[in-house]
Amino acid sequence: MLIKTIKTTCPLDCWDQCAMLVEVEKGRLLSISPDPEQKITGKYLCRKGRQNLARLNHPDRLRYPLLKKNGSFKRIGWNEALQAMACHLSDALARFGPLSLLHYHDGGYGGLLKNLESRFFSALGGCTEHRGSLCWAAGLAAQRYDFGEVYSHPHEDLANARLIIIWGRNPAHTQPHLLPFIRQAQKKGARVILIDPLRTATAALADEYIRVKPGSDGALALGMAAMIIEKGLLDRDFIATASSGFERYRTMAAAFSLNKTASLTGLAPEVIENLAVDYATAKPAALVIGIGLQRHSNGGNTVRAVDALAALTGNIGVRGGGASYANFQISRLVDDSFLNGEDLQPIRRRYPKPGLAKAISEFSDPPVDFLYISRANPLTQVGDSDGLRRAFKRVPFVVTAEHFMTDTANASDLVLPATAFLETEDLFYNSMSHQYLVYSAKCIEPPAECRPEYVYLRDLALLLDKEGFPAPEPDRLLARAIEPLTNKTGVTLEEIRENSPYLLPGGNDIPWAGRVFETADGRYNFYSPTAENDGVGGLPVYREPVELGDKKLRREGYCYWFVTPHHRDSIHSSHRLPDGEVTPKAYLHPRTAEQEGLKGGEKITVWSKRGCLQAVATVSDRVPPDAVVVYEGWWYESGAAVNKLTPARTTDMGCQAAFYDCLCRIEK
Ligand code: SF4
Repeated sequence: MLIKTIKTTCPLDCWDQCAMLVEVEKGRLLSISPDPEQKITGKYLCRKGRQNLARLNHPDRLRYPLLKKNGSFKRIGWNEALQAMACHLSDALARFGPLSLLHYHDGGYGGLLKNLESRFFSALGGCTEHRGSLCWAAGLAAQRYDFGEVYSHPHEDLANARLIIIWGRNPAHTQPHLLPFIRQAQKKGARVILIDPLRTATAALADEYIRVKPGSDGALALGMAAMIIEKGLLDRDFIATASSGFERYRTMAAAFSLNKTASLTGLAPEVIENLAVDYATAKPAALVIGIGLQRHSNGGNTVRAVDALAALTGNIGVRGGGASYANFQISRLVDDSFLNGEDLQPIRRRYPKPGLAKAISEFSDPPVDFLYISRANPLTQVGDSDGLRRAFKRVPFVVTAEHFMTDTANASDLVLPATAFLETEDLFYNSMSHQYLVYSAKCIEPPAECRPEYVYLRDLALLLDKEGFPAPEPDRLLARAIEPLTNKTGVTLEEIRENSPYLLPGGNDIPWAGRVFETADGRYNFYSPTAENDGVGGLPVYREPVELGDKKLRREGYCYWFVTPHHRDSIHSSHRLPDGEVTPKAYLHPRTAEQEGLKGGEKITVWSKRGCLQAVATVSDRVPPDAVVVYEGWWYESGAAVNKLTPARTTDMGCQAAFYDCLCRIEK
């Protein structure tokens, strides 16, 4: 029998976006393996990636539209589903206009065509939609204020570094394909320092681990800057020729004496001094910045303060240097405006993404009358999720497109069975690390009645008699979306299809090598007038996190930092892997366990001001004292949905969730 090998990519919201080969026989998937032609990810797939096939065929996969009647779901056909949506949409549009429609989406599936949902709402006249993100927007905003855009050094360039500081990132769990490059750099003599409040699995490969106090990374960066300036270890040429705003920054940083920084960060003065001197003298030195440190209320300024270290020491635009956070080279060459339907001149009402509950509850002119959710599980993933659950009840009709009956799907009125990768053609690219595009062909039929969003939304647009939503010809849509890429590089969709995984020409260049930045004045901005104009302050100041610094709350007994990192084997709320972990655990430092009179294995309840979860106490010195760590992603039914506890607070810039600015207490 003929076995076909198809090129595709892991669709999960992951730094690595591994290229994959799948073997298909008679429309049946046989195997999945890494595509060796992708030089970064070609050697292996992680467990999450290998589980993709099991997820596609999982018995719990949603296969039919489901409509809730009298509190329980009933299987219906697509005609009835579309009629129900058309009826509610027409009613909402007639009574309140397009802003009464709220479209919530996220990165649960990385294919480009899924973005066409936004175009559908544009064809209806517009909608209410978020700005910012739950994950990384503070860091993105920060780097845009500093550099003008967000670019990372290529993986291979780590081999040129003499020192690598991994700051708040845990590649051992979240970016496994970075590890060989770090090890290779070490073999060539680079030292690796990990800065993180949690002694994560990445600490095992670091030469030095520095446990900074939660939320104080910005103070550490400013204290290092003060030390570098005081010792004259700064790069005067870079500062004079390629930056602006240095004098204001210098004055501000000067307030961070060693003693003050030590008291803010919980580190010994000599640790801070050595770190500053090592970073400034071990040229070139690379900063690998993670998402964790910008999940505090001061997260954007923290990333700005870390970026400034690279500028201060001239570690920008040079091999082995950089302040690598994310990478928007391809993203900039994809026409979002077409996918979003900007040509249809929609009206939009915006709210900060973490504030979904507030938006639903407080928008009144018009109110939110129809909610459509896709690629997302907000009832698990948005802070203060009990508050969001209450807000959901105010919306007359909630529709969720999903693969599984998530918490959000379960709380919806209509659930639509979405297609997954391999069941529809799509194009994938990465805005987090490497710059490969992968064309993913359709190679199997979707199960039962699963349908691609752009197909059923086209039918819905026809039912509603709305023009402007395109015919479902994926390759034409994809070619249109990558027109800017084609115009810049000459590469066509056909060529990407033929040569997938396709490395963007220049995708491995060193960012900012010409020392010309994309800021308003073309320089690196120690002080950003744009940030000042945006009302977030021009300098990368340090402010204590709002809740972690709340003394009253601490006096009430909420004295532990509650932190919810990614599990190695799960992405966000995709904890429903067929053989995934089944018992939620709360990790505590031995001292905290002793303080609470707890032994490992005891069931505890963890409370914040907003809600609680149940988990099994697990004692580990990997977590800092006075902290409770529970991996994110648990669904309600597990009893350990972490975002019942976290706040819906936004960060200082970027409209992103300040998940880690959360205090809790423990009950036996
Ligand atoms: S989850 Fe990430 S590391 Fe794992 S296979 Fe997918 S892209 Fe690769």
